[in-house]
Amino acid sequence: MQRTVAVLGGGVSGLATCYYLARSPQAPKVILLESSSRLGGWIHSTRTEDGAVFEHGPRGIRPAGAVGKNTLLMVSELGLDADVLPVPGDHPAAKNRFLYVRGALHKLPSSISGVVRTVPPFTRPLVWSGLKELLSPRGSETDETIHAFVRRRFGQELADIVIDSLCRGVFAGDCRTLSMRSCFPALFQAERSHRSVILGMALGGGKGPPVDSPLIRRARDERWSQWSLRGGMQTLPEALEGFVKQRGVEIHCGAPVKQLERAASGSWKIALEDGVVEADHIISALPAQALAESLPGWAEPLAQELLAIRAVSVGVVNLQYRDVHLPVTGFGHLVPSFEDSSLLGIVYDSVAFPGQDGSSGPCMRLTVMLGGAWFTSGLGDPDTVPHAVLLSRAKAAVKEHLGVSAEPSLSIVKVQKACIPQYTLGHWKHIESAAAYLERQKLPLSLVGASYEGVSVNDCISSAHTATAKLLGHVS
Ligand code: FAD
Repeated sequence: MQRTVAVLGGGVSGLATCYYLARSPQAPKVILLESSSRLGGWIHSTRTEDGAVFEHGPRGIRPAGAVGKNTLLMVSELGLDADVLPVPGDHPAAKNRFLYVRGALHKLPSSISGVVRTVPPFTRPLVWSGLKELLSPRGSETDETIHAFVRRRFGQELADIVIDSLCRGVFAGDCRTLSMRSCFPALFQAERSHRSVILGMALGGGKGPPVDSPLIRRARDERWSQWSLRGGMQTLPEALEGFVKQRGVEIHCGAPVKQLERAASGSWKIALEDGVVEADHIISALPAQALAESLPGWAEPLAQELLAIRAVSVGVVNLQYRDVHLPVTGFGHLVPSFEDSSLLGIVYDSVAFPGQDGSSGPCMRLTVMLGGAWFTSGLGDPDTVPHAVLLSRAKAAVKEHLGVSAEPSLSIVKVQKACIPQYTLGHWKHIESAAAYLERQKLPLSLVGASYEGVSVNDCISSAHTATAKLLGHVS
């Protein structure tokens, strides 16, 4: 009899899981259960009537590495090549990234001359940080915060300014609590295997399964730093939805998973608000907290590990301006926590993706990112903070950092609650304990998604790929 696999959660991880299951020659019956009325999870684009795109979640995907290639392969298989908007290596959005430090914008060095000279906001040439790293002894801790790791290897200034800002841009998180081992596993391992991160990356990095396609070759030849899709990132979940529907995946939106239980036969009984779905195997693409809340009482040890994985909220403010010019051109700028803790940074969307500006003449689209690990302390309760407060913080930042005091022609405010999981110190232990529990109990349950081993869209898709390959390789 055909096996049934239930996929919980219709974000990109759940959709990618359905995609890999559905295109397999041994495809099981697949049922996707999503609590909200739409698919895509944090991938969410607003398209205005004139074709302008405003992203409320991810806006750019990196093509680099095995996980980047894996996503590009999927994009081609979905027939989206013509929709890809790349940012080639020689584009200002690829070369110019800024920090807002002590009241001024500073371009991060992108050439040798910028590294050997003292450039503000740094007090000495960055080449010294590189030399310090090359000469530092290997660390011995099983895990370390990102800040401690970088301070030990590259020095205090790089940790306080660059890494602090980077972690706010990528994880909306605090590098003084985030784990080096879990957030940047390749760099952590490079130190372990080669004593130096720089040596390790130069000698041992970049290996992955040999995947190739015309789109992957184009991305490599044109040195893309990232890419989006013409109709916004939401085009990806829409294409995935179309593909899996065609392959017979049963999709239920507005179907929150309430409770999981196992029948005497060993199959799962998934209680929804208005019924029960039975499945032989569950692939959970839910946030870890949501899965923990639906587990049966006897799975308490697993629930405890999952509950330890917390996520932070981000205020995303999209702004559109007519007839304004930015003082700089580039991808955007980040703000270190000592400058303004609840203002994470501003993305200059129109610079990277002018193809999403719409047809009503030139405009400037910006996104101001607020809150993250500092949401409650700086902005209040994400459940109750008035959108007007976030809008006014965003407009004030655009005025102060970029000198734009005009009123935006359009603004959209979203509070994305608990949207980015935080891999804090010791995260790896929760992952290992959860995996050991599943193995010991021989539970037909796989975990995929942003809560575990990478928050980027690429990581999410890759986790779906790995879990489905494992499942289809052997029947649990
Ligand atoms: P989710 O998107 O959270 O999907 C989980 C799904 O489960 C949701 O649809 C939810 O409704 C559903 N669900 C929850 N509870 C239940 C339940 N009980 N029953 C049924 N369904 C349930 N990544 C990049 O690569 N590049 C970027 O530029 C980038 N920028 C980002 C900007 C922001 C503001 C955010 C929030 C994230 C960004 N990311 C970026 C990260 C990336 O977008 C996310 O990590 C990724 O989309 C998460 O996908 P997911 O499917 O694992 O989880």
